[in-house]
Amino acid sequence: MQAGWLEINLKAIGNNLKEIKKIIGKNVKTMPVVKANAYGHGLVPVARKLEEVGADFLAVSYIEEGIKLRKAGIKMPIVILLGVSEAEIDPVFTYGLTPIIYEYKIASMLSEIAQKNNTNIAVFIKIDTGMGRLGVFYKEAPLFLKKVSALPGLKIQGLTSHLAVAETDKTFTEKQINRFKTVLDEAQKAGINLPYNHIANSMASLQYKESLFQIVRPGLSIYGIYPIPLLKKKINLQPAMSFKTRILYLKSIPPKIGVSYGHTFVTTQKTKVAVLPVGYDQGLFRQLSNKGEVIIKGKKAPIIGTICMHLTMVDVTHIDGIEIGEEVVILGKQGREQITAEEIAQKANTISYDVLCRFGRSNPRRFK
Ligand code: PLP
Repeated sequence: MQAGWLEINLKAIGNNLKEIKKIIGKNVKTMPVVKANAYGHGLVPVARKLEEVGADFLAVSYIEEGIKLRKAGIKMPIVILLGVSEAEIDPVFTYGLTPIIYEYKIASMLSEIAQKNNTNIAVFIKIDTGMGRLGVFYKEAPLFLKKVSALPGLKIQGLTSHLAVAETDKTFTEKQINRFKTVLDEAQKAGINLPYNHIANSMASLQYKESLFQIVRPGLSIYGIYPIPLLKKKINLQPAMSFKTRILYLKSIPPKIGVSYGHTFVTTQKTKVAVLPVGYDQGLFRQLSNKGEVIIKGKKAPIIGTICMHLTMVDVTHIDGIEIGEEVVILGKQGREQITAEEIAQKANTISYDVLCRFGRSNPRRFK
């Protein structure tokens, strides 16, 4: 049985990149983030689409993702956001990947292998301007840069940093951008050439002109999700992922009947119940029990009772003409109704990134 499936609209992904490009302008390059299987949308097909529509770089978390892209024939520069370990130095060279570096030891090992092979290895240097995560602390960055830029065989493309509160705190975001600029200025004074620098995620790419530098690194917006609702006025993004299933079973039950484990829902009237063959194993958050909705025949229907491992019940009393096998939209559009990743995230007490990744991990994909 096909429990549920994802429909991935690659054209939407292409259009979203084009829309972002309109805002950032011609002089800024793009590095779409395709980590986590392209936020659940499917790494290789998404990368191919982005290559086709003119993305300049791709960013992944792990070297394995980069190798997968190379084996699939992706030619563009692939940046490894988490950097590489000592054991991963060889594949960086073999597959022509671009690691982010923040440790001198790794930088010197990359330098060694580049020299041994009489070539250069492209790298970005990660600076921590206030994320408190990966990267050389910004105050220590000038010294680190001086040391690393003296290593032969490393082609330093530029600096990178990540914003911690771009969606919620303008003052701190500007502080991070200024810290980044200061490190860049000091590097320039020291005669270090840094042609491609990037700090902007989706939010900053769309909202902070001063964060654009030479490259932007959007993720969420590529997949059609707005970092904040206000941006709907500025850019037209189209969600690329839908999650669908079909009705497995239909029945009417009388009032005062408990539905599903724990009887967290009890009917108050004669109720038509549709049983869906998906549950938390397919990524349907249990927090949506008695809270979430689906769309059937263009109408919203509430999830009733506790979501099970592979079964979910919905109240379809108000929807006429439904049959077993009817298509059900869990995420996406049908007729005039729509359920967004943001809505699901809010009800499940999480973020839209988590919704996309989780549905993406648990379901087969159909591309259109
Ligand atoms: N850059 C880095 C280092 C990230 O970790 C992420 C996402 O988590 C992004 C860029 C993209 O951010 P967003 O999806 O908010 O555009």
